[in-house]
Amino acid sequence: MNVGAHIPSKNAVEEIKMRKGDTFQIFISSPQMWKSPKPREDIDILQDYDGPIYVHSPYLINVATPNNKVRHPSRKLLKDTCKVAASFGAKGVIVHGGSVGEGGDISVGYDNWRKALEHVEDTGMRVLVENTAGGKNSVARYMDSIERLWEVIGHLNVGLCLDTCHTWAGGIPTKKAVRGFNKLVKKIDLVHFNDSKDGFESSRDRHENLGKGQIPKDELEYVIKNCKTDIVVETPGGLEAQKKDIAWIKRRLKK
Ligand SMILES: [Zn+2]
Repeated sequence: MNVGAHIPSKNAVEEIKMRKGDTFQIFISSPQMWKSPKPREDIDILQDYDGPIYVHSPYLINVATPNNKVRHPSRKLLKDTCKVAASFGAKGVIVHGGSVGEGGDISVGYDNWRKALEHVEDTGMRVLVENTAGGKNSVARYMDSIERLWEVIGHLNVGLCLDTCHTWAGGIPTKKAVRGFNKLVKKIDLVHFNDSKDGFESSRDRHENLGKGQIPKDELEYVIKNCKTDIVVETPGGLEAQKKDIAWIKRRLKK
């Protein structure tokens, strides 16, 4: 188990050392743009890094949608992201589950996920589906939908990323989420460990520093004790606040 943070992409290895983390997650292109990532100039530094590196794909990506104008560029950007991530040995590329939109047929979304994974298969990169907090027609918000998605894609090179803010705000009780995810995959690939500014099932995706939000502490502690996987915080406040969040987790791992 390694504990780390989502950090700035530039000088990432130094950034994570300053936070006393042992793993990190970065964007390798602008999270709000369709532009594909460039080859990394710091490829040697990233390749030499001791711990696992995770890449978060841009937020615009929605591989599930029936809308061709979004789905096609989503697949391309995901593939380009996987290629660059593979070049420096990243352990996984995280993608939000996406949505089929108002009135959309969710089973089409599952099948679109399968096609997207088949499209990126030759990059060798493992894709991690992250559960999301909002939307009624989201593919990976509620437990039953995540289970149905897994029936369609579970045989492919794909894993699960559990985001504690998203399970809470999305309306899956934390313990149920941990048990449910653990049932679907041998080992949850990654935990995004965030507190939530908003209430249970609020559908709002606003991360908070650990112990300062609305998720009961014992639920967060349950995740640490029962997931046995890499943990990355995506919390606000920059270096000092994230350093505290990493220490918060490490203290509880020692107990
Ligand atoms: Zn997340």
